[in-house]
Amino acid sequence: MQIAPYVPGRSTTDDGRKVAKLSSNENPLGTSPKAREAFAAAATSLERYPDASANELREALAAKHGLDPARIIYGNGSDEVLHLVAGAFAGPGDEAIYVNYGFAVYPIAIRRVGATPVIAPDQDYATDVDAILAAVTERTRIVFVANPNNPTGTYAPRAEIERLHAGLRPDILLVLDHAYSEYIDGGDDDGGMALAASAPNVLVTRTFSKMYGLAAERIGWGYGAPAIIEAMHRIRLPFSITIAGTAAAVAALGDTDFVAHTAAHNAKWRAWFSDEIAKLGNAGLRAIPSQANFVLVVFEGDLTAEAAYKGLMDAGYIVRWLPGQGLPQALRITIGTEDETKGVIAALRQMTGAA
Ligand SMILES: *Cc1c(COP(=O)(O)O)cnc(C)c1O
Repeated sequence: MQIAPYVPGRSTTDDGRKVAKLSSNENPLGTSPKAREAFAAAATSLERYPDASANELREALAAKHGLDPARIIYGNGSDEVLHLVAGAFAGPGDEAIYVNYGFAVYPIAIRRVGATPVIAPDQDYATDVDAILAAVTERTRIVFVANPNNPTGTYAPRAEIERLHAGLRPDILLVLDHAYSEYIDGGDDDGGMALAASAPNVLVTRTFSKMYGLAAERIGWGYGAPAIIEAMHRIRLPFSITIAGTAAAVAALGDTDFVAHTAAHNAKWRAWFSDEIAKLGNAGLRAIPSQANFVLVVFEGDLTAEAAYKGLMDAGYIVRWLPGQGLPQALRITIGTEDETKGVIAALRQMTGAA
């Protein structure tokens, strides 16, 4: 009963109207047409169980990213992989650390296995490596860091991630959640994959839900040392990913045009959106620098985040207001289509009296 249930992003207004959904960081450009075709083609053999070892998915990921397929774990979204890692490495009496304003699934996964969540303070919404290291105790088993982070969008560069890893005892597992790594400017890399390939205590998790536009199909995966992966395999459900989802994911991996198009769209409109928020600075609005497919906007003036949330809903846009995560003063806004992005800014300008 100490677990606060996960609150998903909404898709309808209070009065049931369907409006632009900018509350779950989904891909505004949809899904690769190749993925949709592969998904449809999988309808021919619904009576068969999936391959329990997900060979096709692991081989495709290994080829794409230059990885050892034996070191890949997979799950029903990376959410399942995060639950698996908590189940395999933490239990009653243990602690797991994540940053203030971290991903909402971490405290659920930690408490579910009877372990204790420990929150490390942020530094103006960003991950503070020194604060994480200071929060470590002899009971610490896992450190979860989303990089870029959700809901803040902030990014810790490679040197900081390496410093964090170097400062942790070898018996503490560092989980680097790369749900948004494809959106980092210029393809920058926090070095997580290299650490997962070489260190015995690093797991990187990734997903098809964001850049690949396959949130409906629930395919996530992780990469780490064989002992980590092997422990997680022992407790996973035998058939947690589907044949159709796997087919779509493998096809999506091959559609580099769709990924490049999404990345360019996001970079362009994220920059434009952040600039427009900066112009509303005298009304107390501030965009936290983002390397993801959303921007956290903090409201520090007369217009409150709650009022802006309601005003945006009236204007036809559902965004994420997160008082339950300690962020009553902010809205997390997914970068949508061009029209949606411009529409959100127009509505905010109106509410602040700027337009
Ligand atoms: C969206 C998200 C995930 C993954 O979601 P799945 O759909 O379960 O793969 C994982 N971590 C973070 C930080 C996210 O925002």
